[in-house]
Formats: sequence, structure tokens, C-alpha cells
Amino acid sequence: MSVLVVGSIALDTVKTPFEEHADLLGGSASYAAIGASFFSPVNLVGVVGTDFPAQHVEFFRSRQIDLAGLQTAEGKTFRWSGEYMLDMNVRETRSVELNVFEHFTPALPDGYRETPCVLLANIGPNLQNHVLDQMTRPKFIVADTMDLWINIARPDLLRLLPRVDLLILNDSEARLLTQQTSLIKAGAAIRALGPKYVVIKKGEHGALLFGQDQFFSCGAYPLEDIHDPTGAGDTFAGGLAGWLGAQDGPVTFDLLRHAVVFGSVLASYNVEAFSLERMRTLTMQDVDTRYADFRLMQQFELID
Ligand code: AMP
Repeated sequence: MSVLVVGSIALDTVKTPFEEHADLLGGSASYAAIGASFFSPVNLVGVVGTDFPAQHVEFFRSRQIDLAGLQTAEGKTFRWSGEYMLDMNVRETRSVELNVFEHFTPALPDGYRETPCVLLANIGPNLQNHVLDQMTRPKFIVADTMDLWINIARPDLLRLLPRVDLLILNDSEARLLTQQTSLIKAGAAIRALGPKYVVIKKGEHGALLFGQDQFFSCGAYPLEDIHDPTGAGDTFAGGLAGWLGAQDGPVTFDLLRHAVVFGSVLASYNVEAFSLERMRTLTMQDVDTRYADFRLMQQFELID
């Protein structure tokens, strides 16, 4: 089963206390699509400018990502720059240049409208709604969001939530959205806004999955060296949605537990190098090895 991924495609400049790199492949859709491509064919919807390097397009193509939904617009690609502190959970956005993203309207090629699994990676909730308007009811819809949209586009986000099956957001965003201190209360409060399931990410401390009267806490892989945390959340969402897309039958809480672990596996690899570099060499054998490590760490039985 294919997964439709829509979001930003960017050229990023990233500074950590130890290194700085400019003009890297980035954007929520880039990370999510590459993450999902480990498990499912991907239909990518996004926009780039005429300055977007051909080698990045080739990278998507080499991962069997369908690019019929990738628009090239006159102008420059979306650019984002961020700086991490010594505590890499803390990041400051240094600059954002919307460029061609400013007038982006996601248009779905006809062949994409019936994609069974949808991942609305981080973009404005008005655009996420617009994508769903163009789709025949998919089997499962996952959405990601960020603090910016909770602050400036709350009505659009509240309109989106009843339309999605799973919302993914991080702990501070969950608190911002619900005004709850407790993440357990926040998870329940978000479910009351519409999504059947909610994942709250806690950076290097793992992720929480909420369903109706069901709860799963997934630890994070204990990495010694994190080189670039950018896109960890998007890679997590991509791995999760891609793995779900590859499963038959209805999406159950138990399947979602597995999907959360696979999302965590991919995210843990992605932060080992800048941009998407680690994804270029990652093999399915690596994924399976770390999945087995996660099972041991969690000390729970995953039904295969
Ligand atoms: P994350 O580390 O998960 O927050 O994702 C970082 C990625 O999100 C970077 O590659 C950025 O290019 C992209 N990004 C940053 N701000 C935005 C935004 N407002 N809308 C869409 N994507 C963004």
C-alpha cells in the first residue's frame, strides 16, 4: 500500500555546538518521505524552486518515491536555519525564508487521490485540510504539527483534528494546545478534539501513544552521539506511517505500538548524521537489528 506524504521541502542551514553545514536537504516532507520509503511506496506532494539541486531529486527517485506531485515553481526553495544548544533538545530558529512555499497550494495528481495511507507532515493546517479535501476517504490519516500553527492557525488546526486518525506532536506543543501540565491529561484532551489516537514525542526520552483507554510508552534508543536532531520528528512520523502503510487489515492499537517502535528506530538512525545523510546508507538489516534492540530494551512482547 502506498503512503501519500505532503509537507515542506527545504534547504536547511544547521549549527550545533560542534559543526555548521549550509544548504542541506531538509523539510518535513523530505524526512518523512525518505523515512516512509523504507517500508512502503511513497507519493510525494510538495514544492521546490528552480535552485533545488538535481541530486536531491535523484535521491528521492532512488528511494522509489513517486514525484508526480512535486511542483517546481519559479523562484527559490524554502530555506530554514536553526541552531542547537549544548542540550540538543533546545533549538533556536535563526531564519526562515518562505520563497516558493509562500504561494504553495498542494495539488494532488489524479492517481494520488485514493492513496490508502496519508501523512500530513508539518505544514500549515489550512494546506493539510486542502489535501484531505482532494482525497477519497483514505484508510488511515496521520498528521504532524508544530507550535507555530497552534499559535497562529488554531482554528484551521481545530478543523483538521476531527478529520485525522492520529495526531503526532511533541510535549511542549501538546501542552501549548491543551493548556495541561500533565501529558497524560494532554493526550486525553487532544483525543477529545477529534483524533482517535495521539502520539506525544518527548525528544531523547521517547514517545507516548494514546488510544481509547489504551496507553503505550516507548523509550528512546540510548545514542551516545547525536550529530543533528533536525527532522527526527518527521523521520519518526514517516517511519510510523510507512510501516503502517505496509500492513494489511484495520489499524489497531497493537499495530500502532509496532509502528511507534519502527518510527523511533528510523529517527534514532537519522540523528546520527546531518540532514538525511544517514538514510543513504541505512539498510533494512540495520532497521531490523535496532528494532530487536528496542524490543529487548522495552522488555515487552510485540506480536509479530
Ligand atoms: P523538526 O526538526 O522535526 O522540527 O523538523 C525540521 C525541518 O522542518 C527542517 O528541515 C525545516 O526545513 C522544516 N521546517 C521548519 N519550519 C517549518 C515550517 N514553518 N513549515 C514547514 N516546515 C518547516
